Amino acid sequence: MPRPIQALIHPDALHHNLQVLRRHAPDARLWAVVKANAYGHGIEHVFSALAGADGIALLDLEEARRVRALGWRGPVLLLEGVFEQRDLEACSRLDLWHSVHCEAQIDMLAAHKTHVPQRVFLKINSGMNRLGFAPHQARAAWTRLNALPQVGEISLMTHFSDADGPLGIAAQAQAFQTATSDLPGERCVSNSAAVLRRALHARQSQHELPASDWVRTGIALYGGAPDFGQPDAVDADLQATMSLRAQVIATQQLQTGDTVGYGSCFTAPQPMRIGIVACGYADGYPRSCGTGTPVLVDGRHSRTIGRVSMDMLAVDLTELPNSGQGAEVTLWGYASSGALLPIDAVARAGGTIGYELMCALAARVPVVADAALPQAR
Ligand SMILES: *Cc1c(COP(=O)(O)O)cnc(C)c1O
Repeated sequence: MPRPIQALIHPDALHHNLQVLRRHAPDARLWAVVKANAYGHGIEHVFSALAGADGIALLDLEEARRVRALGWRGPVLLLEGVFEQRDLEACSRLDLWHSVHCEAQIDMLAAHKTHVPQRVFLKINSGMNRLGFAPHQARAAWTRLNALPQVGEISLMTHFSDADGPLGIAAQAQAFQTATSDLPGERCVSNSAAVLRRALHARQSQHELPASDWVRTGIALYGGAPDFGQPDAVDADLQATMSLRAQVIATQQLQTGDTVGYGSCFTAPQPMRIGIVACGYADGYPRSCGTGTPVLVDGRHSRTIGRVSMDMLAVDLTELPNSGQGAEVTLWGYASSGALLPIDAVARAGGTIGYELMCALAARVPVVADAALPQAR
């Protein structure tokens, strides 16, 4: 028998989330962001469910090749653009659109030999200060691109740093508007947080959001909340697309004062019963999710006990006398009973965000690519 741990991918939930986001951004075309191997889900596993998107956005040429090999004929966007000259040959061969965020990328385009002009997304740094031209350089960059025979249509793009936080997007939206108001081309501004912001705070944000011909949604497609954990994914009617489940492989009866795991970090304050679960940090479960992180055992709420080790962790069974060896443990997502443990609740307990948990799912965890959502939800 393989070690009893599985990641279940729920295509129905992906499909549902895509429809929800379309409702929230009815006037925009939608990039399904599948970077980082579809946020840990596996590009091949999400492809059919997301095939209703208008385009597929990612970072790596290797991932772009996989998307084309799956038969995707629609737009593919390289969110960070090309990294070296010969990447442009792959863009021509695979018909990839790409972001242009710096002069060096324009130099590469100018030196590229092609008969087919490429579609580019000119990235404006409106305040995130990672990639992009400063607002006052936008016009010159656009003019330079526009003069190149290698370049076809030019779209305008920016990325918000605080769409789900208290700072909001007003200042960045204003900077983007000012930089681009007299430039033609499609606009591509919103990430998941900005789309959900508009959905949940319509009145507040309708004036501040620039018109967006394209939205770039990642985490919300996967049923997770954006960075700040606000708004909650469930409030936005999103469903979990990945469930991580394992089993109890042993139980221990503790006396008062007994300790659990490496470093003896947990001491039993009274007699307790614990279960040892076939899941550890080498499976992608964060080591920072020690004592107190929520888990579901046979669909009922419990918590982790002590340190997470490489291949195992401990859960409290004291209040769950009917759960023992073989009990189902849901680390995040849906239990087979239909109970939900949001990945964001687990992430919060470990001091991180759902994105990181999804992306860190380890290659050794077997994946069930086409798992039905539990009936009773
Ligand atoms: C990853 C990424 C997105 C998607 O962000 P989410 O928060 O997952 O929706 C959008 N735009 C760019 C440029 C990105 O790198």
